[in-house]
Amino acid sequence: IRGTVAIVGRPNVGKSTIFNRLIGQRKSIVDDTPGVTRDRIYGEVEWLTQKFRLIDTGGIQIEDQAFASQINMQVEIAIEEADLIVMVVSCKEGVMSDDMVIARKLQKTNKPVLVAVNKVDNEQLQMQSYEFYQLGLTNPICISGVHGIGIGDLLDEIISKL
Ligand code: GDP
Ligand code: MG
Repeated sequence: IRGTVAIVGRPNVGKSTIFNRLIGQRKSIVDDTPGVTRDRIYGEVEWLTQKFRLIDTGGIQIEDQAFASQINMQVEIAIEEADLIVMVVSCKEGVMSDDMVIARKLQKTNKPVLVAVNKVDNEQLQMQSYEFYQLGLTNPICISGVHGIGIGDLLDEIISKL
């Protein structure tokens, strides 16, 4: 195992879709800290003889916490537990204020951060990925979780930075 990769991002950008695509069928589960649900968020990924652990932080739910602080906690857990973080954004909605909040937190970590622009379902949509340079992180990688586009490139990038 090379290390742990965490997926972060605001709701609905496609984190779970990408997580499921990366881990395929093999799902492992659960760590029960009271008040924290961590179902179906851990998986193991194998890519070209390399293996890493994957966390979908969007699946971490903290009881009785407001929406903004849920995302905050998820990002903090990612920064703490992961060796590399994949921030997922959506080209359909573009840069949203919650994306900027997450990006600012990630700018402060020394750990490598990749930006995956999801929902790039066709080549015309690739143009939309340029606006994500605003996040002040690394060059955006275009992917489509639903269609499986760019997943190999994302995996290559993860392995090279891990
Ligand atoms: P999460 O909240 O970040 O975990 O997002 P989900 O994985 O649950 O996906 C949210 C919605 O976006 C679902 O309706 C997905 O089918 C859709 N979605 C995910 N990936 C893609 C994609 O690559 N293209 C398109 N068009 N929709 C996607
Ligand atoms: Mg999800």
